Amino acid sequence: MMWFNNLLVGVTRLMPKRLVRVFASPYIAGDTLQDAVNVTKELNARGIMATMDVLGESIETKDQAVEAKEECALMLDAIREEKLDANVSVKPTQFGLLIDEEFCYGLLKDLVEKAKSYDNFIRLDMEDSPTTDKIIRLYKRLKAEYPNVGIVLQSYMRRTYDDAKDLDKLEGANYRLCKGIYVEPKEIAYKGKQEVRDNFMKTLRLMLEEGAYVGIATHDKQLIERSYALVEELKLDKSKYEFQMLLGVREDARDKINADGHRIRIYTPYGKDWYAYSIRRLKENPNMAIHIVKNFFKRGK
Ligand SMILES: Cc1cc2nc3c(=O)[nH]c(=O)nc-3n(C[C@H](O)[C@H](O)[C@H](O)COP(=O)(O)OP(=O)(O)OC[C@H]3O[C@@H](n4cnc5c(N)ncnc54)[C@H](O)[C@@H]3O)c2cc1C
Repeated sequence: MMWFNNLLVGVTRLMPKRLVRVFASPYIAGDTLQDAVNVTKELNARGIMATMDVLGESIETKDQAVEAKEECALMLDAIREEKLDANVSVKPTQFGLLIDEEFCYGLLKDLVEKAKSYDNFIRLDMEDSPTTDKIIRLYKRLKAEYPNVGIVLQSYMRRTYDDAKDLDKLEGANYRLCKGIYVEPKEIAYKGKQEVRDNFMKTLRLMLEEGAYVGIATHDKQLIERSYALVEELKLDKSKYEFQMLLGVREDARDKINADGHRIRIYTPYGKDWYAYSIRRLKENPNMAIHIVKNFFKRGK
């Protein structure tokens, strides 16, 4: 199916921007912070939490990194003013990680500090493998000073179980565990679907047994069912973990998890960089192209 996926990605790239927008719209709250606030209000009204994210990854100047930080600070203000049940996710490269790690740390520290004063929380998204060590380093430094910061680990990475073993030693470890979205070489990443799932469950068990708080980020039915069984086996209180999903994806499963009484949080991206985000995600995970095309046909009905 790979050739078909690649073909779909190619076709999507040739589409007029306006049409890509139609396909991508279920996955993006809108262009502005107010759009993200509105979507979060709707989610909150259903008892669902959100994590907001402003789109845009590859920046070239420190000024752009400062702008990203300022936008995230506005998000924290809006969450507080509107009394939303939401936190903020950030991509460290958007904060200048690849320009100057120390500078990036300084911006993140400011943001985490502000979030702490608002009793809120910042999640560092995990990016591609050249950034893994850097993001873990940032997390460790921030975690040494602030309780209100978390990291993401990806179960397709062969190193992840050992990373979790190491990070579990930190006081109040807080993870999002996902499969991982980037295309990585087989030397460092599992490629088999079941291998990635089994590593997800093995790592999740380790994290939960060590007492960490985990955001179980998946739409995969098998992983959701296995996670249900695991939290039951460990007799975990529902305050010790949450499920997480992307905006617009598998809303049926989202509602079932919510109805079953588990905490659930939706990743809610917004911003003017929606086009680059959509195309980048399509390129990184061609399976999304199928979902987008399916979505298009469903919407036509
Ligand atoms: C809250 C959240 C945060 C994330 N943060 C990161 C991160 O920081 N770093 C990172 O590398 N990755 C991140 N990801 C992406 C993640 O790594 C996976 O690529 C993605 O979630 C797909 O994996 P899956 O476990 O849902 O399983 P899959 O097997 O890919 O999907 C299971 C099923 O879900 C449905 N589905 C999945 N994706 C879509 C879609 N886009 N549209 C419609 N249906 C879909 C399909 O029915 C599919 O069969 C995040 C994912 C979530 C949910």
